[in-house]
Amino acid sequence: MKQDKQEELEGLDPRDHRVLGQQLDLFTFSETVGKGLPLWTVKGAVVRRELERFIVDEETKWGYQHVYTPDIAKIDLYKKSGHYPYYKDSMYAPIKIDDEEFMLRPMTCPHHFELFLSRPRSYRELPLRIAELAKLYRYELSGVLTGLIRVRSFCLADAHVICADDEQAKSEVCLALDLIEHMAKVFGLKMGDDYFYRLSLGDRGNKEKYYDDPPAWDKSEKMLRDILENRNCKFNEVADEAAFYGPKIDIQMKNINGKEDTAFTVQYDFCMPSKFKLNFINKKGKEQQSVVIHRSSIGAVERIIAFLIEHYAGAFPVWLSPVQVKILTISENQVDYAKKMEKRFFEKGVRVELDDSSESLGKKIRNAEAEKAPYMIVLGKKEVEEEAISVRQRGEINLGTMTFEAFLGKISKEIKNKTIF
Ligand SMILES: [Zn+2]
Repeated sequence: MKQDKQEELEGLDPRDHRVLGQQLDLFTFSETVGKGLPLWTVKGAVVRRELERFIVDEETKWGYQHVYTPDIAKIDLYKKSGHYPYYKDSMYAPIKIDDEEFMLRPMTCPHHFELFLSRPRSYRELPLRIAELAKLYRYELSGVLTGLIRVRSFCLADAHVICADDEQAKSEVCLALDLIEHMAKVFGLKMGDDYFYRLSLGDRGNKEKYYDDPPAWDKSEKMLRDILENRNCKFNEVADEAAFYGPKIDIQMKNINGKEDTAFTVQYDFCMPSKFKLNFINKKGKEQQSVVIHRSSIGAVERIIAFLIEHYAGAFPVWLSPVQVKILTISENQVDYAKKMEKRFFEKGVRVELDDSSESLGKKIRNAEAEKAPYMIVLGKKEVEEEAISVRQRGEINLGTMTFEAFLGKISKEIKNKTIF
């Protein structure tokens, strides 16, 4: 089993996330669990949890309201949304329970719409930004499954913005793009170099793939094009890449092998509001149909982590690093002091790991460098006597001796600011 995996990784670019994922012990796959179903190790789970916390906290600041909805629902829900005929080939077969049929959800939209419909809504509540870290399941051909980039179960940083009218929808598309650019900046991704915009259009002739309403396609495609032109950013237009319910602005990224995939997306939907009767009471006290924006701030957690592993070559910024500080002892005389230091870091919420093995210091440093730990604390006789610590930064940078408090101040600031080095 282990050997098979090794063979699969042979010949891949050393920066490929599948290679680094195994080297850094971030995730794995098991034939017994199933193809395209990643298992997150303790270290990978740390990266994922930090990212998920960041998404929820940041989106909340931007006015999104996070909810939870089930991973499974009756097939009738996807028939109502229209996903069923359009997405049938990428959905899993229905599961029969009692005399009803259920599906593992391929998308979150209809779940959020039912939540919106749970009570009457006023124009005062709009725009309503319903967000969720949603677990989704899609059937992908085994030949296209690629590490964490293309999987069969994933977690989408999803949201649906219910807007009163096109004016609100336009400003919500802009807000979603602002949020995406903000998130990308935090990760250190640069527009043009690391990601680029694509306007994904429908195909009026293909009534099987796209909802049949040519005037609505004309209007919404123009709206998204105008938004991109006003933002003064370069973009490509690509036909036949829209969602079945409307056009999209996709943010595309390339992996280490040059293969392009959609990382984030903002979509205009002129179809679901009428299918679901997503109405609200307007200022005049009358029922009015809403407009919906589907968007993902950082896309699928799996896919963005794959891109980030490759982008950083496994050397995550401190806030995302599974182990932030490695404590290295020179001899066994420093073990007690090292354990005290370890406890102090733990108590301050810094992820720390102690290497008190009998290896030489040189070997311990090489191991910590290979694990891409951002900081190493070296403890010898002098450090114990002076009640100090010697600090090394990843990349063989010696920062010298300092007090525990001074270093804690430095690393805490870098974690808070999500500093990249
Ligand atoms: Zn959606």
